[in-house]
Amino acid sequence: LLYAIKNNRIQELLDEGVAIIDKGDKLAMGTIGRHVINSDTFGGTFIESIIGNEEGLFSDVSNADITLKMREHARQQVPLQWVGEFLEALGRSLRKVIDNHPASRFFSSTEIVSVHTGYEDGKIRVRALRKGLEGEDEIEFIVDKLVLAMGGKQSYEHVLSQKIGDRLSLAPYREKMLLTGHALTEAGIEEMRNRLEGSANKKVVIIGSSHSAFSSAWCLLNKVKADFNPKDITIVHRSKLKLFYATAEEAIHDGYNDFTEQDICPLTKRVYRLSGLRFDSKDLLKRVWGMSDTREERVQLLRIDPFGANLDQLEQLLEEAALIIPAFGYRPNVVPVYDTDGSEIDLMCNTGGPLVDDECCVLDTNGDVLPGIYGIGLASGFVPSGELGGEPGFTGQTNGLWLYQHGVGGMIFNHIMPRVQLMAA
Ligand SMILES: Cc1cc2nc3c(=O)[nH]c(=O)nc-3n(C[C@H](O)[C@H](O)[C@H](O)COP(=O)(O)OP(=O)(O)OC[C@H]3O[C@@H](n4cnc5c(N)ncnc54)[C@H](O)[C@@H]3O)c2cc1C
Repeated sequence: LLYAIKNNRIQELLDEGVAIIDKGDKLAMGTIGRHVINSDTFGGTFIESIIGNEEGLFSDVSNADITLKMREHARQQVPLQWVGEFLEALGRSLRKVIDNHPASRFFSSTEIVSVHTGYEDGKIRVRALRKGLEGEDEIEFIVDKLVLAMGGKQSYEHVLSQKIGDRLSLAPYREKMLLTGHALTEAGIEEMRNRLEGSANKKVVIIGSSHSAFSSAWCLLNKVKADFNPKDITIVHRSKLKLFYATAEEAIHDGYNDFTEQDICPLTKRVYRLSGLRFDSKDLLKRVWGMSDTREERVQLLRIDPFGANLDQLEQLLEEAALIIPAFGYRPNVVPVYDTDGSEIDLMCNTGGPLVDDECCVLDTNGDVLPGIYGIGLASGFVPSGELGGEPGFTGQTNGLWLYQHGVGGMIFNHIMPRVQLMAA
């Protein structure tokens, strides 16, 4: 939708007949605004889809106070709560456009429960439960194309099934754990504060090397603000920690040279464009490494030895810790997809793989595409390449609204819009 707005093609898209379905009551807002951290992208990225729309269909949101505030911070990070506020305003504006359109409609408070595919007519059946004043109704959507954009999920079950260094189970530490999806929210900050206040020590172990892992440490230091002693917070990581820089020259000037040509995006020349820590997380790591004027002594790093040489040390840290935050990322939030014979199709994402291929098509466990079903958003597993850029050495998954609104959004848009048939003269 944002891609279509940005490219002035929203009416064209809505002309096709689009049902936008969300189990919540707000359009476009999603869950990003629940986090009490700052963005790891520029404020300008979030608002660019409606820039230039000050007089048009989206004038309400384009001229809203929150948008003006984001505009003033276009080249800085912004609190994600602002982003939530902006997306809510955008959703209100978009809703007016959709409500005025005869062919499209927003279905709020409607939760998708299953998808049914493989019919002779090529259509996909999407079953949902719709909450109303008088209870819940079942509702079926019969569609040509389906885009799954249901965000990501985390579960203790998944975390507890993981082994660190192939040997160390996290299962005995369930009671001490808090998932990042909760830890980075207002309620999570409160819970961390209470747990640490009631504990004999303030030791915290964070497992992971991503933005969420460093954001958790940032929240402990800046939001929970417990009385931490040096080395009370340990960030345990397996892979190399990386910093983002706009250019290789800037990195070297800053005293950072732990990268090669493979780590530079050929398109933008940025260093660790996809995998490098940015803003608050980068700043924190630089202070831990002693690259800044003030050294952060309260945080220590522990890199897991690939041969398990320091697992005993980690086990001891886990035993002592008052709080353990596994920052293992997100898995896609999907619903069961069934074939016409009623059997459930095994999705690749349910066996640890990505939800989608590099064309945003949803995959089954054999790597075959499910016709007409596409996926986008948090934890979809899309890895940008080619004209979307990114460092060639990147292996993880990337999440960023910039990509959703540009290349990835464009890909989905092209999948769902009917192709123009070129007839031979
Ligand atoms: C902590 C954190 C920080 C991030 N920071 C940034 C950042 O600074 N910059 C950036 O570009 N990206 C950031 N991202 C990455 C990503 O851009 C955001 O997570 C993005 O907002 C995710 O959008 P989404 O649509 O995939 O998921 P969500 O925002 O979670 O939206 C999913 C929607 O699907 C609905 N839904 C779910 N299940 C169903 C169902 N069964 N039926 C109907 N509706 C359903 C939900 O109600 C929700 O509205 C961050 C991610 C995280 C986790």
